[in-house]
Amino acid sequence: MSESEFDVVIVGGGSTGTAVARDCALRGLKTLLLERDDIASATVGTCAGMISSGLKYRGEPDIMKMSSTEVVHLNRIARHIIMKNPIVVPLLDLNDVASDGEYIEAYSEHAEERDVPEMMFITPEATREIEPMIHPNIIAGVYYEEFFIDPFRLCLLQALDARKHGAKIKTYCEVIGFNIVRNEVQEVIFYNRITGTTEKVSAKIVVNAAGPWAHKIARICGAELDLRLNKGAHVILDRRVVNVGITSRAIDGRWIYLFPHENTTLLGTTALDTWEDPDTLVASFDEIEYLLKSIEIVIPSIREARIIRTMAGVRPLVPDWKVPEDKVTRGYQVVDHNNGLISFTGGKLVMCRHMAEAVTDLVCSKLGMHAICTTHKNPLPGNESDVDIESLSVEFGVAMHALERMRARRGTEILKILELTKDHPEWKTTICTCEPIIEAEMRYAIREEFPQTLNDLRRRLRLGTGPCQGTFCTYKAASILAEELDLEGDDFLVDILDFRAERWKGIRPSMRGEQLAQEELAQGMYSCVGNLDQSDVDYDLKPWEEGG
Ligand SMILES: Cc1cc2nc3c(=O)[nH]c(=O)nc-3n(C[C@H](O)[C@H](O)[C@H](O)COP(=O)(O)OP(=O)(O)OC[C@H]3O[C@@H](n4cnc5c(N)ncnc54)[C@H](O)[C@@H]3O)c2cc1C
Repeated sequence: MSESEFDVVIVGGGSTGTAVARDCALRGLKTLLLERDDIASATVGTCAGMISSGLKYRGEPDIMKMSSTEVVHLNRIARHIIMKNPIVVPLLDLNDVASDGEYIEAYSEHAEERDVPEMMFITPEATREIEPMIHPNIIAGVYYEEFFIDPFRLCLLQALDARKHGAKIKTYCEVIGFNIVRNEVQEVIFYNRITGTTEKVSAKIVVNAAGPWAHKIARICGAELDLRLNKGAHVILDRRVVNVGITSRAIDGRWIYLFPHENTTLLGTTALDTWEDPDTLVASFDEIEYLLKSIEIVIPSIREARIIRTMAGVRPLVPDWKVPEDKVTRGYQVVDHNNGLISFTGGKLVMCRHMAEAVTDLVCSKLGMHAICTTHKNPLPGNESDVDIESLSVEFGVAMHALERMRARRGTEILKILELTKDHPEWKTTICTCEPIIEAEMRYAIREEFPQTLNDLRRRLRLGTGPCQGTFCTYKAASILAEELDLEGDDFLVDILDFRAERWKGIRPSMRGEQLAQEELAQGMYSCVGNLDQSDVDYDLKPWEEGG
């Protein structure tokens, strides 16, 4: 087979596409993944990262069982990027107690398998002791535990593992067409946004993992695909404002949550059927007010917290119509278009490995191959063993907190990063103080994890995602990136403004209260200190698009 011939070409580098690439590569298929932007740059990057027991979908016992089993698998293969989150449901009246009683049995059925305690009622005193911000008039609480994964790292690690097993991963390559002969896909045509060229490769099978754009890929391949697109928005608070996760009924009776997440807090989510282009969506004023109004029923002081940002994404749901959104199955479908293209609808982050296994089984059977799935057993990079942060902190003279955060991103890879500081002690400098990230990790990420821009670095490191939203780290990070990638002056400036524009998309809808002062400071830094007047540079252009 030549360099441009593949058994399988995957469109989309989100949780689904990267999981498929990994499974195909591990089974020995010659695999190419094409992503029009960066890995995890779309829906998966806007999700809460909860790999849940499927509690909300207790009407679908099969989905609950599958979710539970997938949590076990993920805890085996990606333990280093998973956190356990204790959750409390504050109950304000007897109706709540009656309705929440139904959940206890469904949740507890698979609790032992996931290594969490059964769900339990707790007294109001115990509830408020766990989280003093909860409303004083509660009559009881419910306690349970769920797991959370870093969605960006999961996708990246799946892509890196696929690459390690022979797959080609090409980011900034947008699929724009197919050559179809006698109703069979022969070639995939894509625009390489880095080189500015149109290229094509041959494919025996194409897997369409383009999330909320999957119907568009099907259409250009001469097939039809129906999706129910559903918008969800989150509000992000500047730090961990609660000790534990809070779930509660919103003003319309839907479930919403307030989750400590990394070093911030996520308040989410909304659910609105949408026909808008997912690329242009942002959280609306109404969505933010709906979430604040709903959560303040149980956390009355929530508006005192600073909102640093919002984020919005689109769920590519199975096309169940004439039912409310929360009655649409959270399962997935594998749709064989019988022309060489196979698409997904539905699914969730938690089941991406399962979705990949199902589609790779189908691909193998179509290619007449017999290869067994091993993705539930093989560890992802960094999950090979435990890491002793305390002794590393003493040995390398790097703060425990910085190492703890690094370990949560990288597991055993932390050792390779710290090795770099032996030749370059100056790389122990902290670049992003909110997260925190030291220079050695940034250089390692640039060398090993194929970022092209500051936004790509953000996804790999959580750069600029903390309380200051990049106000103090962007320049430092940009100069390191420019040095490593040999970027020219204009490219450097465009990248900074592009990063800023991407942050601004989520900051603008959230501008209120103390965030207004914070943004004033950020604008002042960019315009006065950095001399970056945005009108000077066309920040819609990526470096490689200039003149392209
Ligand atoms: C607000 C919100 C909260 C959520 N919370 C959770 C949660 O807590 N837990 C959970 O399990 N699930 C959650 N989900 C659902 C979950 O995020 C999605 O089901 C899942 O991430 C979808 O991943 P994906 O890879 O299919 O799609 P995406 O992440 O959208 O990936 C598709 C990729 O295809 C690429 N693409 C599109 N067109 C082309 C093209 N022409 N050429 C090349 N590439 C292309 C896109 O750039 C994109 O990167 C949530 C969803 C939302 C919106």
